[in-house]
Amino acid sequence: MSDHKIEKIRVHRICIPARAIHSHGSGDVAGINVAIVEITTDSGITGWGEASPWPVFTGTSEGCAAALHVHLRPHLIGQDPVQVEKHMSMTDKVIVGHPEAKAALEMALLDITGQICGLSVCELVGGKMRDDMGMSFSIANPDFEADLNDIAAMWEDGVRIFKFKTGFAGHKFDLMRLEKMREIYGDKADIRIDYNQGLLAYDAVRCIRDLEAFRPTFVEQPVKMHEREALAHITQVIDTPIMADESVFDPKGALYGANIRIADIFSLKIMKSGGIRRALEVAAIARAAGIEVYGGCMFETGLAHAAGAHLMAAVPDLVLQCEFYMATYYAQDDILTDAFPVRNGRVIVPHGPGLGVKVDPDKLARYAVAEPLS
Ligand SMILES: [Mg+2]
Repeated sequence: MSDHKIEKIRVHRICIPARAIHSHGSGDVAGINVAIVEITTDSGITGWGEASPWPVFTGTSEGCAAALHVHLRPHLIGQDPVQVEKHMSMTDKVIVGHPEAKAALEMALLDITGQICGLSVCELVGGKMRDDMGMSFSIANPDFEADLNDIAAMWEDGVRIFKFKTGFAGHKFDLMRLEKMREIYGDKADIRIDYNQGLLAYDAVRCIRDLEAFRPTFVEQPVKMHEREALAHITQVIDTPIMADESVFDPKGALYGANIRIADIFSLKIMKSGGIRRALEVAAIARAAGIEVYGGCMFETGLAHAAGAHLMAAVPDLVLQCEFYMATYYAQDDILTDAFPVRNGRVIVPHGPGLGVKVDPDKLARYAVAEPLS
């Protein structure tokens, strides 16, 4: 038991506009719509958490805010914040699904616990295996000329990993973009592909074989999330590694996925698994099955990126790096007091106790889309 008690929980809903629309096999996204939870203890410590949903993937920010405020809050007031597993087990008994709301809660509890004991979140969950990691940017602007300008600017910044979102504007458009990218940057660019469920299962193999000519590092989620056996078949017949994103959420999904060898890689996301510790359980299942992991994210501010960076810092092996680029290269602004640390194309794991980042209350107010719930 610690000497601290949860005294106050506030839930903010915000929207930060994007610099450009990003298109995907599952639709367009024009901004970052998230719920932020602020938990304060009777000892004056504040922990921050973020629920970053995507309506076509996991849920909505309205749903996350209601989950946190209406359903979870009454079970947390007066409780000891450091008993993280106890509270996370409670969440699964109180409300089904809503993994982003659960991730936000765990983030805030770990932030508080880290501040109490003077350890960073990655140290709390096992220790820091790396100080930084390569950062991928997603090429998803329907205006490819605009994307080429952005790629050139990011190349100057040291970014070398680019993930092409495909399957939203036709196969020919995808082939043209990949050809252009290899023409300009040759093999110095690490090119990945993400369909976001955009292919029809019956024709997916033929489409992916065409794209393999451009030597992608992996092809992510070509088919619908529920088409798990089709995804396993694609993994079996395609030479390029296949990644499961939408098809594998949590440890139970990872176990089923490993059993049918659904993919060669799992995208780890705290918003799918319901927190950092459940994502590490997914990583453990993947490791035991010889499946690689990757640091994925949703449409997030630097706060959730910080939690993702702590998760990926704690993973034993990391070959394929991460994609925590939103706060630096996608959103028009962020909610942190200091910029989320990205240098020379690499995400730096934040230093200091807890998450190692702080939220600016003025920014929360500026981007609010509703009155805070408390
Ligand atoms: Mg994806």
